Amino acid sequence: MAIAAHPGDGLFTMGATLARQIESGGSGVLLSLSLGEKGAPKNIPVKQYGEMQRTATEKAMRLLGGDSIILSYPDAEIPFNDESSKAVCDVIREQKPDIVVTHWSGSWHKDHQNCHLIVHDAIFYADLATLERKRPSHTVSKLYYADNWEDATNFQPDTYLDIEPVYEKWMKACDFYPMWRGQTGFFRYNDYYGSLAVMRGCLSGFKYAVALMSDSEQRMRKAQSL
Ligand SMILES: [Zn+2]
Repeated sequence: MAIAAHPGDGLFTMGATLARQIESGGSGVLLSLSLGEKGAPKNIPVKQYGEMQRTATEKAMRLLGGDSIILSYPDAEIPFNDESSKAVCDVIREQKPDIVVTHWSGSWHKDHQNCHLIVHDAIFYADLATLERKRPSHTVSKLYYADNWEDATNFQPDTYLDIEPVYEKWMKACDFYPMWRGQTGFFRYNDYYGSLAVMRGCLSGFKYAVALMSDSEQRMRKAQSL
């Protein structure tokens, strides 16, 4: 399960990972906390842009063979509190992911920072059997952080995932978004994330790769020999 503040982050920074898991026989779901509607360009009303983002996300996840869930928090105002953490906890208990990928905390974007914090608490709540919700508890076994140009402060990848089998499909899925080719702003997402996959591939010996950072807790290994 990928959990992103905005659908674009979900597809561009976590979509290839979802696609690879699906391609390897697993399943993948993208949970976005907002529609990312406030990224609307001047000539498109915010509400209409939000619906364009929803349609793009549905099409993209259908192409990748996964599902999408979008919560209704307002873009730029995603709150970090018990309500939002429990809402994400409920989705985790419902979807039962083994692995979660989300934003790294070293971000200049407050929605991304809040998403990072929400996911931490949501995983804790989802696992807490004595916390009564509609569904029984569920334990997420691994948590990774995605390689995002907006979340780059102290991002130190330690895991490289070969995405060659899904690279073209993932690029096509990203292209459903108006922002992908820089149509709505200055940033050329397609050039950045397309070539980032090449660069990460160079470092890991794959043609294309995604770099992930493990949560610090899962870096502690208990071994009797190495
Ligand atoms: Zn974002």
